[in-house]
Parts: sequence; structure tokens; C-alpha cells
Amino acid sequence: MSDLAKWGDWGDEAAKQDAASTKAGQRSYMKLSEGDNIIRFLPPRIGKSSPFAVTYSHYMELPDGRKVSFNCPRMMAKRPCIVCAKGEQLRNSRSMTDQKAGKRLFPRLRAYANVIDRSNEAQGVQILAFGKGIMDDLVAIRGNPRKGGNFTHPETGRDIIITRKGTGQFDTEYQVNPDVSATSLHSEPSQMEEWLEIAYDLDTFMTVLSDDEIRAKVRGEEADPEPQRAAPKVAIAGRTVTPRGRSVEDDVDSFDSDPF
Ligand SMILES: [Zn+2]
Repeated sequence: MSDLAKWGDWGDEAAKQDAASTKAGQRSYMKLSEGDNIIRFLPPRIGKSSPFAVTYSHYMELPDGRKVSFNCPRMMAKRPCIVCAKGEQLRNSRSMTDQKAGKRLFPRLRAYANVIDRSNEAQGVQILAFGKGIMDDLVAIRGNPRKGGNFTHPETGRDIIITRKGTGQFDTEYQVNPDVSATSLHSEPSQMEEWLEIAYDLDTFMTVLSDDEIRAKVRGEEADPEPQRAAPKVAIAGRTVTPRGRSVEDDVDSFDSDPF
């Protein structure tokens, strides 16, 4: 009998990778409920220096009511942006309606982070998308040791409480507070490790579409449930992967009503 291996070994590491790949195809997004949301932000992934992916994106309502969003090439790739140009043109109009419409076309900050929803830990790592208001508050907590400093540290960090009041783009208010006491990400080191390992690669949110792709979106030729068409790392042939818990519609809440 030949001792040449006729099959590969599906080792523990590979199995973990497979689990992570499957998860990449089924992004789970956390939606902030009204009232208190107790959230643990994960630290940056290895090789990264920030726990957030910060994007500037356009959010537009098409004439037929559909909504599209995509990263702004001017803000994120130093390329001319047709939507920014249109916004600027409208803002310079004499009509107040045009000026308002122009302002709505400006790119807005939207950040993404890997989080654990403390009220639903079984869901594992999820992505939270949020706007400038929450981002500013989080950065202020990080910068203030009396508020907990680096709240993402898996051992010495703390949970963050985001309190949501109201619904919709213009009536929603958020309060962001650090938990009074420091806690670890999880008391079981193995669970903590697993969460850190399966955290999403947030770089996928930084993709900037080509000018042609943006034009197609603006013309409504391309309906896309995910704003940046962030593809899973491993494509599963013949299977359409739909992100759970989030659509472009949901993004309304993750935008502040005012441009940055
Ligand atoms: Zn733009």
C-alpha cells in the first residue's frame, strides 16, 4: 500500500477557516433597537490599528423610490465624483429646494465595526453600521481614560451602551455611554479567541466602485442590497448569498441627517 496521501486532512485550523468563510458570506448586521443596546466592540484585527472602517458614502433615493448607496470616489479614492459635482451644482442654485436637494447629495460618514450584542451573544460577531454622531462619541470615550479609554480591549475594556430614541432618519437620537465597570470580552478564553478569529474583514466596506458602476447605480440599473458589493472571501458557486438583517433601507438609520 502506498503511503502517498490520497486525501487532504481537514484539520481544526481549516475547519475554523471554513466556518469563517461561511460567515463572511452571511454577514450578520446588528440593528439598534429602541432603548438600551449593550454592545461590546471588538478590538482591531491583527495588522489593523483601528476597530472601525470609516467610509464616506452617498445615499440616494431614486425616482422610483428605491435607495442606493455607495462610497464616494472623491472622499475615498481622490477621484472626481459625479454625485458630489451634482450636489455642488444644486447647492449653488438660487432655489431653496435645489439647495436642499444638493445638500442631501453630499457624502456622509458611515463607520462599521465588529460587535457582540450582549443581549444576543449566540449570534456571535455582528457588524454595526453607524454615523458620525455615534462615531464622535466613541472616539471621545477612547480618548478619555475616565470614561474607560480603550473600551475595545478584550481583557480590560468595557461594554458600550447605545440608547436609541425614536425611529427614522430625522427623528432618531442616540446616546453613547461606557458601562461603569470594565469587563472582558468573554470569561471563557476559548470563546473570546473564537470571536476574535471570526471577526469580519472590514476592509471590504472600503471598496470604491468605478465611474461606470456608479453611473449604473444612479440610473437605477443596478439594484444591490449591499452598498459596496462586498463579496465574501470565498464565493460559493451557484449560491446567492443575501446579507441578513440589513438592506440599503436600513442604512437610513446609520446616517446622520446632516453631512459631516
Ligand atoms: Zn462624492
